[in-house]
Amino acid sequence: MATKINMTAITNNLPTIRYRVREYEKKYRRKENTVHVIAVSKKRPKEAIELLYHQGHRHFGENYLQEALPKIQNLSKLEIIWHFIGKIQSNKTAEIATNFDWVQTLERPKIAVRLNAQRPEHKEPLNTLIQINSSGEISKSGINMEELPALVKLIDSLPRLRLQGVMTMPAPHISFDDQRKSFSTIMSALKTFNYDLPVFSFGTSGDFEAAIAEGSTMVRLGNVIFGPREG
Ligand SMILES: *Cc1c(COP(=O)(O)O)cnc(C)c1O
Repeated sequence: MATKINMTAITNNLPTIRYRVREYEKKYRRKENTVHVIAVSKKRPKEAIELLYHQGHRHFGENYLQEALPKIQNLSKLEIIWHFIGKIQSNKTAEIATNFDWVQTLERPKIAVRLNAQRPEHKEPLNTLIQINSSGEISKSGINMEELPALVKLIDSLPRLRLQGVMTMPAPHISFDDQRKSFSTIMSALKTFNYDLPVFSFGTSGDFEAAIAEGSTMVRLGNVIFGPREG
């Protein structure tokens, strides 16, 4: 069953979220308009996506390929930029390389090689983020910091992938200070490498203020835009 959608709530949420993101940029002395919002539309019907699209929103994130493909096909007339933010299975890479504009959850060399080989020639290189494991994360997704240089080097050698930066998803922390700490730990480790990568996809509904405080340039928001997910 698709989650029920409250059209009025969604219509009101987007401007509120945009406003909050701008306020956090000011509060934490970030440059204006440097934090971008990805609307995470997993388990939301295509009507909810259309609604945001008509409010001017373009970037949407999906976790589950089987759920995402029909939505992408249904909405193919709209100029949506699709981000894959779920776990990547190696037998699904061709569909991801064909249907998405960004992949945020790259963690295995083998997957990078496959996505590169399968990215259609007529499309731009696939924008790629490497997922970094945050300490204390329950899901244990993402690579450890020591593995980063080798994966960066590999992706740089693959012409059909465009490495844009990193993504992380820490375990939910109750306190704001703990949230900030998990992002700042990763940020300071990244600084030691001196990479010139522009994108830090840090922050979800529960911790995006902390993520913006610590330098996020991309927040992935589901519940605060669409309302609570059911199931
Ligand atoms: C579901 C999900 C989000 C959005 O989470 P909310 O709490 O709904 O904002 C962001 N990133 C990833 C990787 C997700 O799976």
